[in-house]
Amino acid sequence: MPETTPRTIAVVGTGIAGTTAAITLREEGFDGRVLLVGDEPHAPYRRPPLSKDFLKRAVPAERIRLKAPAVWQELDVELRTGTAVTGIGDGALELADGSRQPYDRLLLATGGRARTLPYAAGHDHVHTLRRLGDVPALRADLESGGPLLVIGAGLVGLEVAASARSMGVDVTVVEAAPEPLRRVLPAHLRRAVLELHRAHGTRVHTGVAIKHLVRRGGTLVATAHDGRSWQAHTVLVAVGILPQTALAARAGLEVDDGILVDAYGATSRPHVFAAGDVARCPDPLLGRRVRNEQWNHAQQHAAAVARNMLGAATPFTAVPWSWTDQYGVLLQIAGHPADADALTVQGDVDGFDFAALATANGRPVGAVASGRPLDFRALRTVLDRRLADGGHPGPPAEESGGRGRAHDRRPHRTATT
Ligand SMILES: Cc1cc2nc3c(=O)[nH]c(=O)nc-3n(C[C@H](O)[C@H](O)[C@H](O)COP(=O)(O)OP(=O)(O)OC[C@H]3O[C@@H](n4cnc5c(N)ncnc54)[C@H](O)[C@@H]3O)c2cc1C
Repeated sequence: MPETTPRTIAVVGTGIAGTTAAITLREEGFDGRVLLVGDEPHAPYRRPPLSKDFLKRAVPAERIRLKAPAVWQELDVELRTGTAVTGIGDGALELADGSRQPYDRLLLATGGRARTLPYAAGHDHVHTLRRLGDVPALRADLESGGPLLVIGAGLVGLEVAASARSMGVDVTVVEAAPEPLRRVLPAHLRRAVLELHRAHGTRVHTGVAIKHLVRRGGTLVATAHDGRSWQAHTVLVAVGILPQTALAARAGLEVDDGILVDAYGATSRPHVFAAGDVARCPDPLLGRRVRNEQWNHAQQHAAAVARNMLGAATPFTAVPWSWTDQYGVLLQIAGHPADADALTVQGDVDGFDFAALATANGRPVGAVASGRPLDFRALRTVLDRRLADGGHPGPPAEESGGRGRAHDRRPHRTATT
């Protein structure tokens, strides 16, 4: 924890974690310099609509902006967009233009970038989706009619599939795992989502690993290891993210599929903190370190870590929760339901009118609901209460997890219903 009041706090990353931290510092009364630096050229914006309403042009760009431009001036936050940080050594940020910016405390909120696949490199009409800048080309391809092949049936891949269907595009999804959303939902609910896609005319093939992608004339041809092949005009590679740990690693911070932080958000180096998608922090529900990839988590985690940078000394214990919207069906997800060995469901799963509590070894670990916001809230309370009762008894171990988990080191138990 800080021994002296810092004069300059620097934040790297203008996503929801970085911006929330900068705002929280002011809300908490910090009156020193706040420097918020991000490499994306845009003013800070909300990422979740990129695969949903913004992709479909249902909301304009102004509506996904996080704050009106004047807010940063009013808060006296020095916002520098379009500026990559290249080093964090010796108490000074090194910027891509060669300048240095001294800091007393530093928050790394560098998030993640879309993973790519070697065979996808160098092709036109092959996309990933992480940034606002990725949208125009993908959207133009979808508006030109498709067909679209999505490689990866995680949340982003399935959300884009649903958006593309609503744009009238012919969509095929291929997924290497036996089922979609393996790391997000218990088995019973994974199957319901699969059927939802099929009911809307999306072809979903699981257990399919693509081996190579070639262009033949105006068509991309993806061929799987088992010899099957699919033709498309447009391909989206949606196979998760890589946490942006390069700055931290170069500076000698402990990094392992994310920047390792303690319950306060502190890294292995004094005065340097990390929050949001890039941070792997202790999860009191699971009793091990987890890297969450969820909007609300990034926001709440960053606010808590910012307060700790000012000396609050409060461990972060909130249960992560998120949502996904596919074909107008909203699924709300709390905790880690994919880790369950049992699921207690009330309502109709196939009709997407249900609330479910997920347990592992008899203890609540997650909840999922659709069409029942009040029940979802009540289930979140159950998870919160479990934490209040002492959380997980075991010591923190190592794990990676979240919305689209980067990878998972433990074997998965199959959820039963
Ligand atoms: C298409 C899409 C849809 C999503 N939908 C949902 C949803 O429905 N619900 C949900 O809960 N979550 C959703 N998510 C996940 C959610 O958006 C993320 O969890 C959240 O944005 C993470 O915020 P962050 O600030 O930690 O990281 P990021 O949003 O990744 O922000 C990190 C920022 O740091 C910048 N940066 C990295 N390195 C440097 C550097 N060296 N110098 C300067 N800047 C740097 C990056 O460019 C980026 O702007 C979605 C994500 C995507 C991509």
